[in-house]
Amino acid sequence: MEIESIRFGFFIGILFICTVWEIIVPKRSLTQSKWFRWSNNLGLVALNGLLLKITLPLLAIDVALVTEDQGFGVFNWLSLPLWLSVPITVFVLDCVIYWQHRLFHQVPLLWKLHRMHHSDQDIDVTTGARFHPIEIVLSMLIKIVAVAIIGAPAIAVLIFEILLNGSAMFNHSNARLSTDLDRLLRTAIVTPDMHRVHHSTIRKECDSNYGFFLSIWDRCFGSYIDQPQHGHQGMQIGVDRFRARNEQRIDKMLTQPFRSK
Ligand SMILES: [Zn+2]
Ligand SMILES: [Zn+2]
Repeated sequence: MEIESIRFGFFIGILFICTVWEIIVPKRSLTQSKWFRWSNNLGLVALNGLLLKITLPLLAIDVALVTEDQGFGVFNWLSLPLWLSVPITVFVLDCVIYWQHRLFHQVPLLWKLHRMHHSDQDIDVTTGARFHPIEIVLSMLIKIVAVAIIGAPAIAVLIFEILLNGSAMFNHSNARLSTDLDRLLRTAIVTPDMHRVHHSTIRKECDSNYGFFLSIWDRCFGSYIDQPQHGHQGMQIGVDRFRARNEQRIDKMLTQPFRSK
């Protein structure tokens, strides 16, 4: 319960900060009603939280607590000190999430699930938390396996989950950063301009910039695109077959992976 309160506190805090930031210095004008998108995107977040509880009673943090207790996993076998195992865990899990994201783009069946994240016709802070529940469950299973193998400390998993969630909300924010600040931040982390390229309708751009927290993975693995071909104002966002307004309603979002039209 304590852990959930910490996570929820960070979620609300970051949501609030990014919302204020988007209002003060918006990057693109929104094309859809904000209230309509927000109620559906955040409704989906609440539904996902509930579904995770029902389908996976043991989450990544709980698995980390069990492996710590049982002395299972590489870091536990090596008896690594926390000051070393925490940053390495964050680094390794971020790389795992990068490859998971790439996999969800490259395997057609997984793309159908992930496509729902891309079908948002505006990108703002709530898009960062908008994922299909099956993708959320699969992602948690992947994290659980990674945590068990590396023997990640529970505190590192908590820090990583807060960072991942927080950076996803940050880099989906419809907010402006100066070019210099964007350049500086981009040397380490994924910025809103860097991730916006990933939401382009141009397939080559959509299949780039997969990172969520650290920007190093896209540079390392050759999937980095600096700027969208048509610029941040001219680029088209979304998925063409899901342009109807009601496709942004929860019930429609949930069925998108199972429809060919
Ligand atoms: Zn994607
Ligand atoms: Zn995204």
